[in-house]
Amino acid sequence: MRIHVIGCSGSFAGPDGAASSYLLEHEDAAGRIWRVLMDLGSGAFGPLQRLIDPVDLDAVIVSHLHPDHYLDLTGLEVFRAYHSRVDLPLLPLHAPAPLADRLAAVVGREGHIPAGVDRSPFEYHVLADRQRLVIGPFEIETRAVVHPVEAYGFRITAAGQTVAYSGDTDSCAALEELARDADLFLCEAGYIEGRDDRFTGVHLTGRRAGQAAARAGVRDLALTHIPAWTDPAVPLAEAREVYTGRLRRVRPMDILEVVPSHTPEEGAP
Ligand SMILES: [Zn+2]
Ligand SMILES: [Zn+2]
Repeated sequence: MRIHVIGCSGSFAGPDGAASSYLLEHEDAAGRIWRVLMDLGSGAFGPLQRLIDPVDLDAVIVSHLHPDHYLDLTGLEVFRAYHSRVDLPLLPLHAPAPLADRLAAVVGREGHIPAGVDRSPFEYHVLADRQRLVIGPFEIETRAVVHPVEAYGFRITAAGQTVAYSGDTDSCAALEELARDADLFLCEAGYIEGRDDRFTGVHLTGRRAGQAAARAGVRDLALTHIPAWTDPAVPLAEAREVYTGRLRRVRPMDILEVVPSHTPEEGAP
């Protein structure tokens, strides 16, 4: 399994890239590459097109309905609704319930069908806690996490490799359950200790992300959702104090290859 970082700027698009969006790819036994898009936040639809033709998406999963995680679905909706290829299948879109209404509100229309066409390009599915979705070779488990709006983290498994994605959350038991023994933990670190102590129930700090990774037994922690006003060295240093495994922060267009981390590599030093 592979993750392309489309955007990873926390809370809003930054000068160096878009807000949250990640493309999951996995090639099945028949050689077909499956593509699931995880969030499509502000500014992310542009760079997505540098990587793939959005015609080729198999599904979209949306962690929660903050603009930095879903707003560029407005662009994907236009792309799929008015594309010259009229044979495109409906694109499965798994998201918290109000998404269809939100997209309609953004463009000021009644109902869920874009003007001038006869159907929505999306097949809406409502996310709930502890769901298990199967999309091609991907198995995706959802867990409700702690954020000011309904929000989910995801645990994604394909061919024995597991990725955990925090979405946006503060510390909670569900986060550690999602990340338990994951091969890669893509975890937000939107806040830093001290400066952001006045907010609770919203975001993790680097320290809280590191604590969750350590408790979950994760050996590869990738911090994301660091906002433009934060020096990434700060959350990285916070995580390092409490977590001893592999640690990095992601950048736009990074490619994260997910490899099993709990099987010793033969011949490794
Ligand atoms: Zn966010
Ligand atoms: Zn959020």
